[in-house]
Amino acid sequence: MKDVLIIGAGIVGTAIARRLSRYKLSVAVVEKEADVSMGATKANSAIVHGGYAEAHEKTKGRLCYKGRIQFEQLDRELNFGFRKTGSLVITTDPADLPKLQSLLENGIKNGLDDLKILNRDEILALEPNLNPDVVYALYCEGAGVCSPYEMAIALAENAIHNGVEFHLNTAVEAIEKKEDGFLVHTSGGDFESRFVINCAGLFSDRVDQMVNQPTFHIRPRTGEYLLFAPGTGKALNTVVFQMPSKMGKGILVTSTYHGNLLLGPDAIDEDGTVDRSTHVDRLYAIYQAGLHTTSKIDPTKFIRSFTGIRAVASTDDFVIGATAVPGFLNAAGIQSPGLTSSPAIADLMAEILTEQGLVLEEKPDYDPYRAPIIKPGKQPRPFSEINKLLDIPSCPKKIICRCEQVEEGTIVDCLHRGIQVATVDGVKRRTRASMGFCQGQFCRPRIKEVIEREYGIQIDGRTDVEKEGASRVTREEFIRCCKERQEQQ
Ligand SMILES: Cc1cc2nc3c(=O)[nH]c(=O)nc-3n(C[C@H](O)[C@H](O)[C@H](O)COP(=O)(O)OP(=O)(O)OC[C@H]3O[C@@H](n4cnc5c(N)ncnc54)[C@H](O)[C@@H]3O)c2cc1C
Repeated sequence: MKDVLIIGAGIVGTAIARRLSRYKLSVAVVEKEADVSMGATKANSAIVHGGYAEAHEKTKGRLCYKGRIQFEQLDRELNFGFRKTGSLVITTDPADLPKLQSLLENGIKNGLDDLKILNRDEILALEPNLNPDVVYALYCEGAGVCSPYEMAIALAENAIHNGVEFHLNTAVEAIEKKEDGFLVHTSGGDFESRFVINCAGLFSDRVDQMVNQPTFHIRPRTGEYLLFAPGTGKALNTVVFQMPSKMGKGILVTSTYHGNLLLGPDAIDEDGTVDRSTHVDRLYAIYQAGLHTTSKIDPTKFIRSFTGIRAVASTDDFVIGATAVPGFLNAAGIQSPGLTSSPAIADLMAEILTEQGLVLEEKPDYDPYRAPIIKPGKQPRPFSEINKLLDIPSCPKKIICRCEQVEEGTIVDCLHRGIQVATVDGVKRRTRASMGFCQGQFCRPRIKEVIEREYGIQIDGRTDVEKEGASRVTREEFIRCCKERQEQQ
């Protein structure tokens, strides 16, 4: 019998798992996919939001700042990649000033003390490449960018190190309430647990309804993105948002943690099942909107598009807490700013478990530290040096990915940290191998070879890359579209 069973290994499930791993408890996580971080946590804007945008009356308004202020310490412990950059909400219309002021006032209600409204000169001093028509901006000094899937991986690895079990490829199919807890039926067998925490993202309404009468529904809302080549992110110093709308925080332009320029997301409410395909018309509209923020976007440097799917709850808020069935807890419908709020959601869940009668006794040997996979501060080496290390016999220094200069030793390290990483994409998320300009054309077979050797398994060539049935706009298609539309103008 487990004390706690967590359903879903996104940022919320892994943050809760790691939070509970410091206590003398038996905790397990079940995840239907082959890796952690395969839902919304894998594909989002990766912004550590200030915490001013969500109303104070909402749970998400109260948790965002509490989560944000934990990122520096968490990154020191877990080494997943966080950079405090500051953020701007900009406008070119003087009539928007009261809206910026009301965002600032809401931020103060949410506990923030690092907000101010900047005028044009102050904005351009901070961001020389911004649209010169900008008139005002709300500046939040403590906002930043992180690497969300690396964060979930780091949380999971550290939770495993502290005794939490992770069961991947294990989908929850039904849940029975028993006298002293729950019997959870999964594709990987049954689990008994005193408490169950539902962190199933897009599927969290269905999991809740395995034990409860419906009290909320989840509707998917897609958002598409354009990602540009490594190095392009240096066009901007901060995260730059346009004015928010009812559907979200608006199109943002930012550097990712690893230095790629990122544009997006748009927002479309979907019905039923959604795939992660991208669409050239949507991407072109995002690109045009991005040009309103900065002209420093070069379409020829576009390398990849992707879609994120928000789990929007019918309550328009996070659904967190105890339910009508004692012992069954929800951390459901966690849409933006769920990544930022995740450390605070984990704290809240520990409080709720205590209220529900679980004793949280600290473990004396809890270790909060996890070594990085990507060593910080490594400088790119000249290609003349790299080329000599490409075709040498297997050794830790052998270069497997040319564009991102990833060594075999780094790949081997990521494969032996308690989670089986049996896809090239899983290695990509951990090491950045295949994220460069050639997008894996050179290194994919080389990565596959290392995985097969290390695990003594054969990977099916059709499944080495996690295909999601999605068709993504290619670099050639996007550049062609930009050219054609420019000619039409
Ligand atoms: C377009 C977009 C942009 C965003 N931008 C930001 C941002 O910049 N900053 C920010 O703070 N937040 C942002 N967010 C929000 C953030 O990404 C989410 O709040 C967060 O990732 C949600 O995490 P989760 O763990 O709840 O869900 P998920 O990451 O979706 O994880 C749920 C997990 O549950 C698993 N699961 C589902 N059903 C079952 C089952 N039956 N059995 C077992 N496992 C199951 C899934 O496979 C999945 O791995 C954005 C979201 C989107 C989509």
